[in-house]
Amino acid sequence: MSEADVVRLLASLRQHRHAGRRSPHKPLLVLFALGQLIATGSSAVSWTADWQRLADLIRDYGPPSTAAPQQRAAYPFTRLRSDAIWTLDHDVPMDRVSPLTANSVVGRLSGPLENALRHPHIAAAAARQLVDAEFPPSVAPDVLLAVGLDPDTILAAAPPPASRRRSPTWAAAILLAWDRQCAFCGFDGQLGAATVGLDAAHIRWFTFDGPDDPDNGLALCSLHHRLFDRGALGLDTDLRITVSSSFTSRTTAGRTTYDLHGRQLQLRPGTTSPAHAHLDWHIREVFKGPALV
Ligand SMILES: [Zn+2]
Repeated sequence: MSEADVVRLLASLRQHRHAGRRSPHKPLLVLFALGQLIATGSSAVSWTADWQRLADLIRDYGPPSTAAPQQRAAYPFTRLRSDAIWTLDHDVPMDRVSPLTANSVVGRLSGPLENALRHPHIAAAAARQLVDAEFPPSVAPDVLLAVGLDPDTILAAAPPPASRRRSPTWAAAILLAWDRQCAFCGFDGQLGAATVGLDAAHIRWFTFDGPDDPDNGLALCSLHHRLFDRGALGLDTDLRITVSSSFTSRTTAGRTTYDLHGRQLQLRPGTTSPAHAHLDWHIREVFKGPALV
């Protein structure tokens, strides 16, 4: 199986998404198995030993969900078989937890795919393709680390051909529109004449059809960009900042995040207000609700 075959096979996982819904469960399982392959020489994933780590991965990097942890893990563990890249050592029904537990089922990537992924450049290309398709650049390194892959190696691999072109001017326009200040905390660091520690953040992710429009962008400091893309911070449709009740911290510095809760976004004259449709997408697909009360 060539690199092109692997890329084509994994690209088919994208076909499960519709209407902007995030469903990274299967890609996360493939990444998890790839991490196992690189660490142990086998992509085998034991339900008994590994379901909790898989469930945590989906909870932390998937969309908000109320599914029970084992159920969350059982979905990709059983359903990835239908994509013909995953096999189980017992023939168990889809989505059911108890047969997985009773039989101590072990899953692994299909033989040809596993063999192809033993080549480091194919493994890197595959991992790059999977994270790029599901996550923004601010989140991809965290996902790779979480499955035991080295972000520097993977993100040095050539990205898959883009289906859409990013606007070369959007980021600079967003920073300017927000007066080069974090829309959440007001951070406005500069080094010499250059802005430092400030990003243009998409509200609806670019990889999920978020447009490079003024009403889909916020200037955010690097910390708040990361927290926003991970769903620790959100924005309600009245443009008030929300903090996820799942967010915790132990130190005074970490707890300053709580102070943002309920704060009104400071729009200045001429700044385009974020579009409700993009905020709704972020609330539905990213923010780890419920918010603090
Ligand atoms: Zn900030």
